[in-house]
Amino acid sequence: MTENSTIQKIGWNFDNSYSRLPELFFSKQNPTPVQAPKLSIVNAPLAASLGLNPETLQDENGVAVLAGNQIPEGAFPLAQAYAGHQFGHFTMLGDGRAVLLGEQITPAGERVDIQLKGSGRTPYSRRGDGRAALGPMLREYIISEAMHALGIPTTRSLAVVTTGETIMRETDLPGAVLTRVAASHLRVGTFQFAARWGTIEDLRALADYTLHRHFPEVDADDSRYLSLLREVIKRQASLIAKWQLVGFIHGVMNTDNMAISGETIDYGPCAFMDTYDPATVFSSIDVQGRYAYGNQPVIGLWNLTRFAEALLPLLHDDEDQAVALAEDALAQFNKMLYRHWITGMKAKLGIVNEEEQDESLIKDLLTMMQKYRADYTNTFRALTFGKPEETALFGTDEFAQWHTNWQARLERQPESKESVHELMRSNNPAVIPRNYRVEEALDAAVEHGDYSVMERLLDVLSRPFAHLPEHAAYCSLPDPSGLPYRTYCGT
Ligand code: AMP
Ligand code: MG
Repeated sequence: MTENSTIQKIGWNFDNSYSRLPELFFSKQNPTPVQAPKLSIVNAPLAASLGLNPETLQDENGVAVLAGNQIPEGAFPLAQAYAGHQFGHFTMLGDGRAVLLGEQITPAGERVDIQLKGSGRTPYSRRGDGRAALGPMLREYIISEAMHALGIPTTRSLAVVTTGETIMRETDLPGAVLTRVAASHLRVGTFQFAARWGTIEDLRALADYTLHRHFPEVDADDSRYLSLLREVIKRQASLIAKWQLVGFIHGVMNTDNMAISGETIDYGPCAFMDTYDPATVFSSIDVQGRYAYGNQPVIGLWNLTRFAEALLPLLHDDEDQAVALAEDALAQFNKMLYRHWITGMKAKLGIVNEEEQDESLIKDLLTMMQKYRADYTNTFRALTFGKPEETALFGTDEFAQWHTNWQARLERQPESKESVHELMRSNNPAVIPRNYRVEEALDAAVEHGDYSVMERLLDVLSRPFAHLPEHAAYCSLPDPSGLPYRTYCGT
């Protein structure tokens, strides 16, 4: 049997539509082979859904592909060019440590990017080594899979392999490659790149490509580029509302980390909020709180405004009219996000019909949660089960009064107690990737080669709405250590 036919048995089925864009948008780039690839973790259900054989994916040839040591047939490895505003400053970026192998066409006929992250230097690496460390790649694996289980659009993680090489950060760390699966890796920054360095034809080619790939339903519209803007705004409003509803803090919402598809992308310093506080920031470098929990909607709109700016030449020949159209579309964002958010918040409280005071009922609860430093996830979980635990919040008269109002509110809708409970159960996760649990899993895997802690965590996180008694240990809070949790970008 030839090597290629062995590889084919894995089920790779590539097309490479991105490589047919103007050359400006990428550099042909193979991954750099690594010394001693070894599989850390593989996502068998995801593999199967992609049409890949989870067994052969794990054998020597399969792992060689996941490490970048072998190029599967039909792939066209490339590094994508893009720009972006990082903490408000515009820069040329691009895949500095990733290559797109190609687009896998799944048995269901879907097209998804298969990207190796940590696969070596590219023309866009600047001073970076093109590599990634095992800990952060496993962290992306855990959190992206948790997000998926929470029903939040996200890139997925197919596998992590260690490279057998050491990479230098503040200390020496084991190197790893993550295989990321995404609807695409088109970013706001890809459009900024086209607008800044491409011709109008390049920009148009990118917009046409995006419409065809992600928004076929508006591709034939008369004002299709305006439709593109509107659709991207719509998806981001929905996405960011979902983040807010579960307390997810992305941590580095630069425009290059905002996917046009509406998926959450680039899990760097992200983390879930414990104590409810809109000012929560975990990232060590976000000293000004630009990407704080409560600021995510504002930044979402800021990023979309950069997207609209990039699209202006396509919106109208007359610049003033183009700006007016863009402003009009952008003005919808806050309204859409608010609608998603209020609907989601009401569902978390079991409310289905409309009343004028619903917003104040929700805001009163959040204000008390902030005042009494209540845990975001556990507060809603306790309300779902009607068994407020012993917390600072639940013991107060303020809360008792609010609870009475809330119960009276529930009486003013026709739903039975059972259906209210069901609605709340399916909107209030029991388990989120608590920071201390994630750290514990990473420590066991990275420091001791013990993946059992992570496997167990992944299993629990895959059923966040199951509310199983055996998951109780994953709902509890860490022992107060006095030190705030910090995440780092130096991944
Ligand atoms: P991120 O913070 O992961 O969104 O990365 C921002 C930019 O830095 C992207 O262009 C990355 O490709 C690049 N980058 C991050 N880490 C490295 C690295 N170790 N080597 C080369 N480029 C990197
Ligand atoms: Mg990025």
